[in-house]
Amino acid sequence: MENAAAMVDQLVRQMYGFEPTLIEELAGYDNLNYKIKTSDDQQFVFKINEGDGQKQFEAESRILNLLAQKYPGKFQNAVPTKDGQDSFLFEGKTCRMLSWLDGDFLANEDHSALLLSSFGSLMAHMDKTLLEIDDTVIKARRIEWDVQHVLELKPKLKSITDPEVRKLVDYYLLQFKEAVLPELPNLRKCIIHNDANDWNILVNQGAVSGIIDFGDVVYAPLIQEVAVALTYVMTEKKLPLESALPFLTIYHKILPLEVKEIDLLYYFIAGRVCLSLIQSFDAIQQGTADDYTLISQKPIISLLKQWIAISPEKASNDFKNALGFEVPAKTDYEVELKRRHLHIGRVLSVSYQQPIKMKRAAFQYMFDADGNTYLDAYNNIPHVGHQHPRVVEAGLRQMAMLNTNTRYIYDQLASYAEKLLAKFPEPLNKVFFVNSGSEASDLAIRIAHNFTNNSRVAVLEHGYHGNTRMGINISHYKFGGKGGRGPKNFITTLPLPDEYRGAQQNGDRSVGEAYAHEAVSMLDKTGDPLAAFIAEPIVGCGGQVPLAEGYLKALYPEIRKRGGLCISDEVQTGFGRMGSHFWGFEMHGVVPDMVVLGKPMGNGHPMGAVVTTDEIADAFNNGMEFFSSFGGNPVSCAIGMAVLDVIEEEQLQQNALKTGNYFMDELRKLQKEFRQIGDVRGSGLFIGIDLVTDPQSREPNTQLAQYLKNKLRESFILVSTDGPYDNVIKMKPP
Ligand code: PMP
Repeated sequence: MENAAAMVDQLVRQMYGFEPTLIEELAGYDNLNYKIKTSDDQQFVFKINEGDGQKQFEAESRILNLLAQKYPGKFQNAVPTKDGQDSFLFEGKTCRMLSWLDGDFLANEDHSALLLSSFGSLMAHMDKTLLEIDDTVIKARRIEWDVQHVLELKPKLKSITDPEVRKLVDYYLLQFKEAVLPELPNLRKCIIHNDANDWNILVNQGAVSGIIDFGDVVYAPLIQEVAVALTYVMTEKKLPLESALPFLTIYHKILPLEVKEIDLLYYFIAGRVCLSLIQSFDAIQQGTADDYTLISQKPIISLLKQWIAISPEKASNDFKNALGFEVPAKTDYEVELKRRHLHIGRVLSVSYQQPIKMKRAAFQYMFDADGNTYLDAYNNIPHVGHQHPRVVEAGLRQMAMLNTNTRYIYDQLASYAEKLLAKFPEPLNKVFFVNSGSEASDLAIRIAHNFTNNSRVAVLEHGYHGNTRMGINISHYKFGGKGGRGPKNFITTLPLPDEYRGAQQNGDRSVGEAYAHEAVSMLDKTGDPLAAFIAEPIVGCGGQVPLAEGYLKALYPEIRKRGGLCISDEVQTGFGRMGSHFWGFEMHGVVPDMVVLGKPMGNGHPMGAVVTTDEIADAFNNGMEFFSSFGGNPVSCAIGMAVLDVIEEEQLQQNALKTGNYFMDELRKLQKEFRQIGDVRGSGLFIGIDLVTDPQSREPNTQLAQYLKNKLRESFILVSTDGPYDNVIKMKPP
């Protein structure tokens, strides 16, 4: 250190002819900076950079000198050496001197609206000047800290060790690719400072007085300049969008922004956040991170988590509103519904008294067309999160390469089948791919008929298994519900083994065993041999009712004794949502003969499957080909594979257990307080709240359930209701 100071002292004397009275090292990124005081009371910054950067620094000096001339005292001057050079080489390093600017860092100041407004003002004035400059050296410059090229840093994504942060960054890289890349050629470009972070902004007497560190200047979209500045304006703010407005409005007044720039500002800010995080995690991994890297990372991560809850439409509308641009008219739901019903039958229902027009979604959030954010506590299909980038990209990539049917050989089918089946216990080792849960349950019944040569199917009260004809035939929820035509003659409907609302007295048996006993006597009364028994481990449409403990264990052997196959419908319960187990049947300590899969399998991409045994699959090979045009196609397989990868990498089953237990504990605390909460039940992130008028009578409180569902919707939280009385709030969040 002393040696370094001595060296600086010597260089300053020799090259500039000054007599230093103070040499003090300053914090810096990528280079060494020294504060110099001279005998004649002048102050400078002496900078040493690795390598020969003279050409670059000459360009930087040209810009600085122009700005310093135009805005005296606000920008540093390049100080020439005795022989008139802006920089010189010393031992393979480039050295130069800049004038000193007094001031405190914006980072250390209270960000009042007034202060941020002065920041916007100086930035706009600077950029107005920069817009006029043409500089081929800077135009040719490529650095990593350049948001427009942030996608080039994707290979470094894996350095982000926190899976939560990694998936958000990955999401925004994908969004940047989709939203910004096609528009890049249409954006105004100029030389920009490109690093208006609050450690590069000086404050004097309550106003921004200077901008330093032009080390990252690049030729880039002007809006990138605004985005970088706003990123740091918005960190550690409760309302990031609001906090951006004082800067933005004055900037726009001085240097008017264009609508297309405002529309992309959201993505450029996200881009800067991602760039900063990729670089800092990479530096940590490389071992080159300093204290500042670690300190500055935290608030940026917080901003990222705030940003993901804000829709681009909301940001763009708020910015446009503040700047006096026209904003799109609010959704007219009357018009929307009229349009929908013109061609779509009314049998397709619409959720909520006040419907929602959805525009986009990200992980646990959904965004409507007007920019509102909803917390999705209801949709279980986007299992690993809405628009999860791993899943989307897997689909995009495969769609661009090959999509065909199972009559050809392709790797994706075998690889995915292998990975999926590894999740099942023996002897479940064969899979048939289809395109929905309905198709899967339909196929399962067809396979059961084929294997057993029997017709009778036992189903559970309130069960739902699909929308095909056979799906309706085996769904008491449908054939026994509104518009239903009752059971077909091959159906036996067994009572729902519901420990909360069920009628079964247990006597010596457990509730589950008592229900199984009753089921067996009902089946025997028919006198028919069985083809199948199908049930969900937790009956969703029945009101999130977990089958009573011991029920399946007692019933499965009896079904098999009567010739039938046991089918577990895991469309809702599968893929780790139960928390304690990957599949619902595992909770009940049984292994079915067939498993029906759907919903979460493709995270929204239409996929379904029947998983069964060798023996049953072999018997199905009876001469009549089984073929599904789309089932098991390479795109579906790639997507299904990505879903399984994400579940593992992000430990989502463990997350379901931990979060679900926490949630249910909290709900049970509420239950003690509110007598209308009759029962809180479920497993992992598959939760039902049974609302009653009185806990003693257990009279369903349908009205309250509907009221709460709609009230929650007004508070931008999505849940649904179900059960025979529609009094159970169901939550199965992504
Ligand atoms: N089984 C169960 C348990 C379901 O909940 C559903 C859908 N709600 C289905 C099957 C049918 O799946 P899909 O709507 O994908 O055809």
